[in-house]
Amino acid sequence: MSIRLHNIAKHFGATQALEPLELTINEGELVGLLGPSGSGKTTLLRIIAGLESPDRTCTPSAIYFGERDVTQVHVRDRRIGFVFQHYALFRHMSVYDNVAFGLSVMPRSSRPSSAEIRRRVFRLLEMVKLEHLAKRYPAQLSGGQQQRVSLARALAVEPDVLLLDEPFGALDAKVRQELRRWLRHLHDELNFTSVFVTHDQEEALELSDRVVVMSNGRIEQIDTPDTLYRAPKNRFVFEFLGDVNHLEGHVANGVLTCGDAHVAVELPDGHEELLLRPHEIRLAEAPSPESHLPVTVTAISPVGAEVRVELAADWLEAPWLATVRHADFERLALSRGKRLYAHLRRWHRFESNAASLRSPATS
Ligand code: ATP
Repeated sequence: MSIRLHNIAKHFGATQALEPLELTINEGELVGLLGPSGSGKTTLLRIIAGLESPDRTCTPSAIYFGERDVTQVHVRDRRIGFVFQHYALFRHMSVYDNVAFGLSVMPRSSRPSSAEIRRRVFRLLEMVKLEHLAKRYPAQLSGGQQQRVSLARALAVEPDVLLLDEPFGALDAKVRQELRRWLRHLHDELNFTSVFVTHDQEEALELSDRVVVMSNGRIEQIDTPDTLYRAPKNRFVFEFLGDVNHLEGHVANGVLTCGDAHVAVELPDGHEELLLRPHEIRLAEAPSPESHLPVTVTAISPVGAEVRVELAADWLEAPWLATVRHADFERLALSRGKRLYAHLRRWHRFESNAASLRSPATS
């Protein structure tokens, strides 16, 4: 079921939680709402759910689920599944009864038979690998297991739309990883439309088909994770989506100078600030005619397939973070205190908060 929002805005007293926005989520998509605290993610999710009403303005707002106009439809009748950060399971009910709950309270006319309820509940419990714990109570489960029950419970009623508000926020990193995989797997298997809120960039990029990046009640960009990372529309999106290094200096005759460091850049004369991702820095033993950026290694931490290297220099206001492959790490014999030269594979530049301008390698 697709979701279409038209002219949705929201004030709480004098606070504008959402500026007027348009948003379409396609049928079967898994979409993440990503932004810093207070950017309006939860408000937007609650408006989709019908837990909050959009502002009434002269231009009418509308919410469609598929062809169905649900703007005036009560939350109860929107056919939504909900998963919250705090599991919100019924503590006095077994896992089985929790998952069956939504089905057992359906009006008699639409309620499935008890055999059908049993079949559906066990199918979902199997999918979240909890069928052996059907008789347990929530207090006898781990946080990750409780959240899997919440997912199964939300899906039991076969909702048109599944909404998740920071669903994995209360769990530790490893369980969170695992649950992301569950959600992705369930989503692909059952093919429902879902929207989840997160302030975790990695979670949004890993899980979503598309990500809606929000700040200050505005949608900054809606794109696939890959496009967001490669082609951010503005500086906010670029900075919010990953680690960023800054290089500020003065450009004259195609050379940016900063203290005793300099690098060739094809830019007009004037003050400039370049932004770089950690993997856009290359480390070498020597400078080159185009690039003289001396740095000292101040910290090293291996992270998976790469090594994160912190670099400091007199000409840098804040240390840089570079990522290098293990092979390069060994070739350069990196260790704390080692002096090297940074070269820029690529850099980014933003005119105020507008479109990005990127350059190929300058060295
Ligand atoms: P977080 O990640 O911290 O949950 P968020 O991006 O989900 O943040 P919202 O909860 O949607 O942000 O809040 C957006 C803005 O609206 C904030 O400035 C918040 O203080 C305000 N706000 C949200 N709900 C209410 C409310 N019920 N009454 C007053 N102000 C509210």
